[in-house]
Amino acid sequence: MAQPAGDSPSWHPHLWHPTTQVATARIPERVVRGEGAELITASGERLIDAISSWWVTLHGHAEPTIARAIAAQASTLEQVIFANFSHPPAEALATRLCRRSGLDRVFFSDNGSTAVEVALKAAWQWWRNRGSERRQLIAFEGAYHGDTFGAMAVGERSLFSEPFEPLLFAVARAPWPSTAGLESNDPGLEERERQALSALERLLEVPTAAVILEPLVQGASGMRMVREVFLQQLERRVRQAGALLIADEVLTGFGRSGRLFACHRAAIRPDLIALSKGLTGGFLPMGVTLASEAVFQGFVAPDPSRTLFHGHSFTANPLGCAAALASLDLLEQAPERHEGMEARHRPHLERLARHRLVRAPRLLGSIAAFDLAVEHPGYLNPAGRRLQDLVWQRGVFLRPLGQVVYLLPPLSIDDDQLARCYEAIGWALDQL
Ligand SMILES: *Cc1c(COP(=O)(O)O)cnc(C)c1O
Repeated sequence: MAQPAGDSPSWHPHLWHPTTQVATARIPERVVRGEGAELITASGERLIDAISSWWVTLHGHAEPTIARAIAAQASTLEQVIFANFSHPPAEALATRLCRRSGLDRVFFSDNGSTAVEVALKAAWQWWRNRGSERRQLIAFEGAYHGDTFGAMAVGERSLFSEPFEPLLFAVARAPWPSTAGLESNDPGLEERERQALSALERLLEVPTAAVILEPLVQGASGMRMVREVFLQQLERRVRQAGALLIADEVLTGFGRSGRLFACHRAAIRPDLIALSKGLTGGFLPMGVTLASEAVFQGFVAPDPSRTLFHGHSFTANPLGCAAALASLDLLEQAPERHEGMEARHRPHLERLARHRLVRAPRLLGSIAAFDLAVEHPGYLNPAGRRLQDLVWQRGVFLRPLGQVVYLLPPLSIDDDQLARCYEAIGWALDQL
């Protein structure tokens, strides 16, 4: 993409960017401000952040009430060790998260990967504390649960995890029958769901500690959506086998599915839920693992070996808690903003779906996605990057996953900005 004149862009000599191949990537653009749905670069260019900066920016950039809540907390209590001590923002946040989620206990950590690690360790040790021999973990094809080792192990093996393959623990893997389009134009779906469920049943014949899934949509593997009824049938199988169910709502939590939690929309009730990304409105890194009282009680005993020996330096950081409380206020004050995103996307996506290069258009809450018709799909397919370059010229930032193009904008995006995103994509598709 054209670099702005007068600016001489180069790689910073001391930075190492995530998931970036310096030999081939374009030089990162410097961002100096965020305003609502927009990013403002050093050269004054305004870009619509149509993917919420890796899915975290929930209400918009520099949202003033969250910014004020963090400032107020920073001059009151910025951090305190969370063993031996508790503090009001953590207590208030735990109470509200439990009331809203239906679970009972909150374990704080730092990000989505750690929230998943804690869920896995809690599930594993819970059985061990009971003297049980359940050793199997089940995850799904196409799963992504984060980049730390445990989270990588339960994720689908991929380009990302390949160098570390010998270090990853074994996980049983069940099929994920993702939908291929909007509503009823997917005739093979019910058959694929049936096959996935019977494959899961067979895996569950081995004593299983836990099943982990991304409810309603697998994010990083390409916005692969499943039906609510499939998750309900899946949950029944997991319950019959007596295994714990872990929902990784790191992406779907906090309104992204159109409901506060995807588990509510799907009417399933997991034993553990991992949350992060939108938790603080996208302001500060923080993760939480919610647990049922039954899971928590499995760790309560005079025997010290029954303790969950896991903790991070910044556990329950008060600034993160203050941001999360302010973000929850916003979600509760205006639920129509997250509940209404799906209807706002729909007419745009339906129009785009008629384009010859668009396959499998799909929609869940604030997430709209489709595949580009390409011959060799995959994360390294260049079509998505080409589309990224084109829409950038029209003032829109997207970051396709290979050939999968998706929009996941902050809730503050206005109708005009949303229309501009779709116009830019439509225009780019005509150039491809
Ligand atoms: C992003 C993501 C993670 C990892 O979260 P990080 O904060 O990047 O560690 C885990 N699970 C899902 C479903 C995600 O989308």
